[in-house]
Amino acid sequence: MALRMTYQREPITLSDPMEIEEPKPVRGCETCQSAMEQWQRASQPGLAHDLTRAVDLAIEIRRHPHNWKLDHMGQRVPR
Ligand SMILES: [Zn+2]
Repeated sequence: MALRMTYQREPITLSDPMEIEEPKPVRGCETCQSAMEQWQRASQPGLAHDLTRAVDLAIEIRRHPHNWKLDHMGQRVPR
C-alpha cells in the first residue's frame, strides 16, 4: 500500500530585512580578501552563521580605503 503525500510544501520566502548584498572585495587586497572569507562564513548557514557580523564585514569591505601604487611594471598593487 502506497502512502499518499498530501502535504504541500510552502514556498520559502526570504523577507529578512538584514538580507545583505554580496560585497565586492578589491582584487589583490589581502584585507578585503580575508574579510570576504569571514563574510562568506558568517552569511552562510553553519556554525559561524552571524548576520550581524556579515553586515559589518560587508560594510568594512565596501569602505575599505585603497591607496594603490604602481609597481615597476606599472601594475596596480595595494600599499
Ligand atoms: Zn581592501
